[in-house]
Amino acid sequence: MNRIIVVTSGKGGVGKTTTTANLGAALARLGKKVVLIDADFGLRNLDLLLGLEQRIVYTAIDVLADECTIDKALVKDKRLPNLVLLPAAQNRSKDAINAEQMQSLVEELKDKFDYIIIDCPAGIEAGFRNAVAPAQEAIIVTTPEMSAVRDADRVIGLLEAEDIGKISLIVNRLRPEMVQLNQMISVEDILDLLAVPLIGILPDDQKIIISTNKGEPLVMEEKLSVPGLAFQNIARRLEGQDIPFLDFMAAHNSLLNRIRRRLLGG
Ligand code: ADP
Ligand code: MG
Repeated sequence: MNRIIVVTSGKGGVGKTTTTANLGAALARLGKKVVLIDADFGLRNLDLLLGLEQRIVYTAIDVLADECTIDKALVKDKRLPNLVLLPAAQNRSKDAINAEQMQSLVEELKDKFDYIIIDCPAGIEAGFRNAVAPAQEAIIVTTPEMSAVRDADRVIGLLEAEDIGKISLIVNRLRPEMVQLNQMISVEDILDLLAVPLIGILPDDQKIIISTNKGEPLVMEEKLSVPGLAFQNIARRLEGQDIPFLDFMAAHNSLLNRIRRRLLGG
């Protein structure tokens, strides 16, 4: 059975598009057939993160206008034959598409893919409703900041009202040293506030920014970095595998202990 998942957050800039690109690539590497749908009309950038921007000829808008078939609009990733992107139109207002149209696009793709992952725009207005309309599941991305957590909470309420049965949470941009100093909310506190199951934790890591700029998701690297591994683990958990969470707090503490021992000459 295929899965239709929206990646959403409420707040902008928390890592939805980064998550969509990496999860898509990770699932494709696991042998799954994956289509990523950019639902951020007007501010599309999933194509950039995937390094596919030069290869876009048609977009979802052309498909809806009957100017091309959906197969023609899908951009294939040369690195991962199982991964394709349905691009959004650039410079179009968010009203360029409505919820029924989004549903009809997903309907056309449904039988050809194992995973349909929809990259949601920020906010809770029309663009959000369009992205959520066809979804059966949601992944909420938040950062450990009160403003992001509050928006995530609001979005979880809206998703529950839409009967999205399965909701899971990614905490992105964790900085263990700040949590340690009580300058940042911990993952445990976020889970208490939001009460949805955790599916992944990602550290704040400049490798993510570099990969964004290179157009190469971290999970595509030959030797996985820590954040690349964290994304790969999320894909495996989606697949139902029981993968322990990377313990960034423990890693930070053991680093501190090593430094302390060295300073004390031990
Ligand atoms: P959204 O789609 O929610 O608006 P993006 O995925 O576009 O967010 O990410 C916004 C910015 O934050 C990008 O420049 C991205 O590289 C950066 N970013 C996302 N996650 C991390 C992280 N874990 N560590 C460092 N930078 C990150
Ligand atoms: Mg985005």
